[in-house]
Amino acid sequence: MPARVTADAVVSKPGDGHTIEQGHLDIIDGRISEDLQVEPEVLLDAVGTVAVPSLANGHDHGRPVSSLAFGAVDGPLESWLTAIRTMPQLDPEASAVVFFGQLLASGFTATMHFDRPGEPQALVDSLSVVGRTASTMGIAAAIAVPMVNRNNLLYTDDAVATEALRGCGYSGDPSRFLPDSIASVGEQLAAVDAIADQVDGSRVNVQYGPHGPQWASDDLLEAVADASLQTGRRVHMHLLETARQRQWADREYPEGVVRHLDELGLLSERLSLAHGVWLRPDELALLGDRGVSIVINSSSNLRLRSGIAPMASMVAAGVDVAAGLDGLGFDDDVDGFRELRLAHLLQAGTGLDDAVSMGDCFHASMNQSHRVVRGTDGPWGFPSGAPADIVFLDRERLRADLAVDVDDAELIKARATKSYVKHVVADGQVVVRDGHVLTADVEAAAAEIRQQLLGSTSHLSATADDVAALQAATRRYYAD
Ligand SMILES: [Zn+2]
Repeated sequence: MPARVTADAVVSKPGDGHTIEQGHLDIIDGRISEDLQVEPEVLLDAVGTVAVPSLANGHDHGRPVSSLAFGAVDGPLESWLTAIRTMPQLDPEASAVVFFGQLLASGFTATMHFDRPGEPQALVDSLSVVGRTASTMGIAAAIAVPMVNRNNLLYTDDAVATEALRGCGYSGDPSRFLPDSIASVGEQLAAVDAIADQVDGSRVNVQYGPHGPQWASDDLLEAVADASLQTGRRVHMHLLETARQRQWADREYPEGVVRHLDELGLLSERLSLAHGVWLRPDELALLGDRGVSIVINSSSNLRLRSGIAPMASMVAAGVDVAAGLDGLGFDDDVDGFRELRLAHLLQAGTGLDDAVSMGDCFHASMNQSHRVVRGTDGPWGFPSGAPADIVFLDRERLRADLAVDVDDAELIKARATKSYVKHVVADGQVVVRDGHVLTADVEAAAAEIRQQLLGSTSHLSATADDVAALQAATRRYYAD
């Protein structure tokens, strides 16, 4: 049934376009339509709002609670990863409801869900639940199945790492942080197929998720490249997040890690890379040639001392730049609008013209991150055929202090945050109304997660000193 949503104004390309007053958008079969032949039904009459394309979260790990909640404080990625391993097992369905609910209420209608590594059957069980939950809640999700088979403690062989950590003053047994067994390449690929069998659909797709070259062997990466070519399934992977990873990659692959990935067949338009903070211009040029996307994560990179991604160079090299939260937003919050503002201010530079515009940053989320997640364009510009994924911001509050007229586009650039999100439409359905998620009981799921987390308090407290000691040894290892 054709439907119409109305708002006081529509800004179809925030940061890069002007406002259409008295706006409305027409929808048929979950997509924007500029050419309705019949009178539509009004789906949402959003008086007092301005409509913008929805955000997509191009890189995230699906944690339902802040890492601070279980004691993992910010610091360099390598020692933070040690602390993050202590996250208690939480119910996958309640976790997904909380994670997706927070995103929907913040104006995201699509997300990457790159879970932490686990045993293949456990991943099949939990990620199938996550995929089904995404479908029910009306959020588009890519389930990137984590694939890992080496260097579980440090960027070196586990046996070497175990000795090295002891040499760096850790008196406990580092092997308790190692997985019980390492699944074969075949078992890991079969797990991806099994999850896809259960959840692949119009809103949810399954992607190969090699965690990064330092954590996935060449034969695993090559098998992923082959399988992606055969199935058309996308690949999502971390790459060159920190200075330590750059050093490792330069030692391991003197011919160049990006060139090496290309030789393995991994670089294609189906690949998206998270971070890329330490990529060099020649590497960016190759990635641009191959049609690879990069997902920048500005807050996370600052909080984990990784640096600032060279977004202007990425754009100049023809790389499609997307954006994500990586579970570590500014202020430890899930706020995509604030995240994009931070990205713009970090990337704009000091010239008379912005090196990266606010429009580039909104485009990264409102188009490219949708592409990374779904494989197709997002609602940016609201062209006919785009997904009807629309966020309605509280226009009255955005304008409350104005003494002169200011264009809505400027107000969104300067001050939109998730607190202004009133309603959200995803695939032509109202999923958030007056700030309230309609498609699941997010508060009940959050209460359940809270109870489960509190059940781990004594264990977390009892092991905190040991974890801190391992973190200290990890920092000492990389300092040498
Ligand atoms: Zn990540």
